[in-house]
Amino acid sequence: MIDLLVVGAGPAGLSAAIAAAEQGLKVKVLDEFPKVGGRLLGQLHQEPSGEWWNGIEMGEKLHQKARLEGVNIQCEVSVSDISRTDFGWSVYTSVGMIKAKNLLLATGASETAIPLPGWTLPGAISIGAAQVMGNVHRVKPGNSCVIIGANVLSIAIANELMLCGVKVKEIIIPETGPVAKDAGVPEKVMASLMRLTHLAPNAFLRQAGKFGKFVSPKVAAQFFPKNGIRVLGIPIRVKKAAIEIIGEGQATGVRTVAVTPDGKRIQGTEQVTEADFVCIAGGLAPMSELASIAGCSFKYVEELGGHIPLHSERMETAVPGLYVAGNITGVESAKVAMAQGKVAGLTVAFNTNGASKKTEMLVKCALDDVRKTRANALIEFQPGIVEARERIYVQFEQERIAVKQAITVS
Ligand SMILES: Cc1cc2nc3c(=O)[nH]c(=O)nc-3n(C[C@H](O)[C@H](O)[C@H](O)COP(=O)(O)OP(=O)(O)OC[C@H]3O[C@@H](n4cnc5c(N)ncnc54)[C@H](O)[C@@H]3O)c2cc1C
Repeated sequence: MIDLLVVGAGPAGLSAAIAAAEQGLKVKVLDEFPKVGGRLLGQLHQEPSGEWWNGIEMGEKLHQKARLEGVNIQCEVSVSDISRTDFGWSVYTSVGMIKAKNLLLATGASETAIPLPGWTLPGAISIGAAQVMGNVHRVKPGNSCVIIGANVLSIAIANELMLCGVKVKEIIIPETGPVAKDAGVPEKVMASLMRLTHLAPNAFLRQAGKFGKFVSPKVAAQFFPKNGIRVLGIPIRVKKAAIEIIGEGQATGVRTVAVTPDGKRIQGTEQVTEADFVCIAGGLAPMSELASIAGCSFKYVEELGGHIPLHSERMETAVPGLYVAGNITGVESAKVAMAQGKVAGLTVAFNTNGASKKTEMLVKCALDDVRKTRANALIEFQPGIVEARERIYVQFEQERIAVKQAITVS
């Protein structure tokens, strides 16, 4: 029987599979996409060192390594259900049921849409869809675009779209509301953009942080130039909000309005920016449905992107034989996902092969690597990730103790 079944062949799942296979486990990986690599396939950016982070190459390296270690990888297979059994897990997929002793969920994150009038028009797409079209399928989505949502991901992908030859006319914000919330409040957007100064993964983002270096977000939003700041030719306009995507049967532009620093409409300031397509960048949320089916406890953690399955630093859940790694545990960069995957794979080996000093040492080194990678992360999706993670690990241990006590009493 398979020792470890991994759902998701992104950086977390592949790294976990490699680490577990290196320790002698029989490992199988499933992914519903036709290619391995997960979100790595869309990533292309320049590091502060000047080197390029090429996600496709990294995905290929992980794929080759996994194959060398004897990992069985099957693409175009969707996992729809899982159930715990006496031997471990029954995993229900689009090609039938698969049995495994241990299960690792590395299903990544999904995008959050921001609904506004016209958002269902053809040509109104998510920012991730634009990244996949350009970087994965090599299809230019159009000649010009407007991006709604000024955040780390939209700025990084705007840069990638420019490399594809797309003219990004402007990055604006959504109008604040029950879904957009702080993403539509200029002073809050400024606060998150200012964090990019020291984290900037490339020249583009380094410049994006400059304007807010010496002042508070509130003041920065007040004095933010009406026409925005240009970063590598792209105007970022945090005081201009989208109120409608316009077009007859096809998106042809965005109707906008000027807003105050706290996000209120300024009357008489409506404008239209024309574009071939419109991207909505509403942020990312962990994709954790399968963990919910398995019976994991969940916590809502804003800093990690939403509801996450409660887990230990070693990537165990409270459900025996069930592990998680990567963006399902909180939205972070691909490098952190890879480091977490290694911890998960080694922990499964430690728990399956019997505790050994050698594996324990490997787990400790891998945990150190996660902390270092996180501390040096170039793309930080939310502030306060380190503290949020520490809280989760404490809550997990408390739950583990409570469950043990309940079992002892009964
Ligand atoms: C749109 C988007 C853009 C991003 N851009 C960047 C970026 O530029 N730089 C960066 O550092 N990070 C980026 N990220 C964050 C990114 O998610 C991480 O960098 C990293 O890829 C997370 O790794 P992972 O292995 O956890 O998940 P992923 O890389 O997302 O891999 C998860 C895999 O699980 C598979 N899967 C999910 N559910 C199932 C199922 N039920 N059955 C079978 N297979 C399943 C998916 O097909 C996917 O291949 C982006 C994320 C998104 C959503």
